[in-house]
Amino acid sequence: MNSFSVTILGSSSALPTSQRFPTSQVVKLNEQLFLVDCGEGTQIQLRKFGFKMGRINHIFISHLHGDHIYGLPGLISSLALLGKKGEIHIYAHSDLQMMMEGMMKFMNELTDLKVKYHPLNFRRASVLLEDKRIRITSFPLKHRISCCGFLFEEMPGSLHLDKYALERFDIPVSQRLNIKGGADLVLPDGNVVPNIELTIPSAPSRSYAFCTDTLPCKEIIPTIKDVDLLYHEATFAGDLEDLAKKTFHSTSLQAAEIAKLSNAKKLLIGHFSSRYKSASPLVEEARTVFPETFAAEDGACFEL
Ligand SMILES: [Zn+2]
Ligand SMILES: [Zn+2]
Repeated sequence: MNSFSVTILGSSSALPTSQRFPTSQVVKLNEQLFLVDCGEGTQIQLRKFGFKMGRINHIFISHLHGDHIYGLPGLISSLALLGKKGEIHIYAHSDLQMMMEGMMKFMNELTDLKVKYHPLNFRRASVLLEDKRIRITSFPLKHRISCCGFLFEEMPGSLHLDKYALERFDIPVSQRLNIKGGADLVLPDGNVVPNIELTIPSAPSRSYAFCTDTLPCKEIIPTIKDVDLLYHEATFAGDLEDLAKKTFHSTSLQAAEIAKLSNAKKLLIGHFSSRYKSASPLVEEARTVFPETFAAEDGACFEL
């Protein structure tokens, strides 16, 4: 089975603390790295947790609040200094291009690195990237400014040939690829062996949804339904629901409710307010609604 993991680089909201960097995560599928948000210090965390920065070609930015983007100019500048060539793709609000280019014109080192900006759609779910291995979709959230979540879905693998069927029917090499693609086998006497008797299905496809910063938003549930791993912000504990509402954030109880309604297998909560020295009370509170809740602490890695 392919490796599919999420590593938390930063789990703090607004202000960094001595224990937590602002939001950033690495989604890794086999050797492909996808960066999600890029708070201040992201490149330091990438180094600390052993990621090769040069392998990042796609960066997804949920929204333009500073705690999600202040690491971006530094990261792009370092990638250029390290000699990265080709294109790097940034998926974000269209205003990011203007912000970045305003800064980048003072940096001469962007010689061989081309930054391509892809504007997000904040009205409806949209596929941003799709290849043989993965599909990445953005979907609108409810925050003070335009904000998107991201869904990472592993693409279904091809069928595996059943070795007993291979021997029993003496399947010719010329037909094996078609059978792995779903075709039936036609025997020399004209009889047909259905594909289901010849193949074993590949492991079920896995999915990860990233939801920050947002009010609890039931509209996202059809998009993230049955997700294997859900990251949902939980800036505050349940007793600060009014403050969460005022600042367009969620509480740990509300994050757990979204996980339950979307039938997620596991919930990670993060984007903690700096008032919480430990995330344990928030996790315990969320577990009263959704037992499979874990803290997205800096450095934690979750395998799907
Ligand atoms: Zn934030
Ligand atoms: Zn925000």
